[in-house]
Amino acid sequence: MKSYKIVVLPGDGIGPEVTKATFEVIGSVGKQFGFELKTEYHDIGGASIDRHGIPLTDDALSACKNAGAVFLGAVGGTKWDHLEGALRPESGLLALRKGLNVYANLRPVKIFPGLENYSPLKAELLEGVDLVVVRELTGGLYFGQPKGPGTTEAGLRNAVDTMVYDENEIKRITHKAFELARNRRGKLTSVDKANVLASSRLWRDVVNEVSAQYPDVELEHMLVDNCAMQLVRQPASFDVILTENMFGDILSDEAAMLTGSIGMLPSASVGDKGGLYEPVHGSAPDIAGKNLANPMAAILSGAMMLRNTLGEPEAANAIEQAVSAVIENGNRGADLAKPGEKALSTNELTEKVQLKLKDLAAKEPSFS
Ligand code: NAD
Repeated sequence: MKSYKIVVLPGDGIGPEVTKATFEVIGSVGKQFGFELKTEYHDIGGASIDRHGIPLTDDALSACKNAGAVFLGAVGGTKWDHLEGALRPESGLLALRKGLNVYANLRPVKIFPGLENYSPLKAELLEGVDLVVVRELTGGLYFGQPKGPGTTEAGLRNAVDTMVYDENEIKRITHKAFELARNRRGKLTSVDKANVLASSRLWRDVVNEVSAQYPDVELEHMLVDNCAMQLVRQPASFDVILTENMFGDILSDEAAMLTGSIGMLPSASVGDKGGLYEPVHGSAPDIAGKNLANPMAAILSGAMMLRNTLGEPEAANAIEQAVSAVIENGNRGADLAKPGEKALSTNELTEKVQLKLKDLAAKEPSFS
């Protein structure tokens, strides 16, 4: 039987609950598709601060670097809000992304059948929405130097952040985005601010150069302000959106809201090897420990891990089909249930996905 070494970082709040659900589901598809996961658990975020005094230990980071893939629940919570800088739970996550050199963050956004009326946009605008935002994750304005507070010659307080990219940083993520587009609907929208920013003009030049290797993919360039507008005007026109770190941070949250539900959104951060998989939502301290978290975002992140890093696309498809069917059948978590609708617990939703997987396996011989 094939076996994959995975490091699991459940983290804080609802992180451990949705992580448990995910590995129960992956355990089942593993049996159906003939593989097993060898999991090694480590602390991150507040859990690591409580046990080791820091949000990510060298031991945990080194285990992650040696794993085939890393799965993370969520970090953070009010208990640790008074901590500063490198001691905050979120610093553990930034250190992990940087340490693993996962420079491409992939956030798929699609409207599950049955959820058309949960979005702030009109249902007719959502028909056919199925896009992925590919955000550069380890460069640009969030990391460029010089950075920090200062003082002007006239003694006024000032502050500087630097937007800097070199051509290799742009090239490697552009290849990731083209490869993804090639295996989807073959359209890539590269988003920049080339009318104003020098870093965007380099971005556009490099994307054009790389595009010569992907003649089968249609490339368009779009200014970031226009992209923000088109995402709510005609979201179904996008397939893959490629952009730098800060633009991607903002656009991916805007795109996420198309679905109307944070509990359904998975994400992957990938580099040249391995990958870090996590739901988009945070630790939701308000519902932690109450068996109320919607586990679907985490379960779908697990499916992305199976497809993108472990090379088990059929198992990933099975999970996605099961989640989609459970939602289409009207099952809702606490994040989605409207007044008067019953909200299913984390355990109940997980159980529904498991039953659907069994159902699919019985109907489709290739599933077993
Ligand atoms: P959040 O995503 O944790 O919660 C926002 C709201 O959505 C809350 O009302 C929560 O109950 C609800 N929600 C989130 N996920 C849900 C799920 N799966 N099922 C049902 N409801 C869900 O964001 P926040 O409240 O801004 O942040 C809480 C903590 O999480 C903070 O400490 C923050 O720093 C941290 N955070 C961590 C990550 C991460 O680990 N990647 C991401 C965002 C926020």
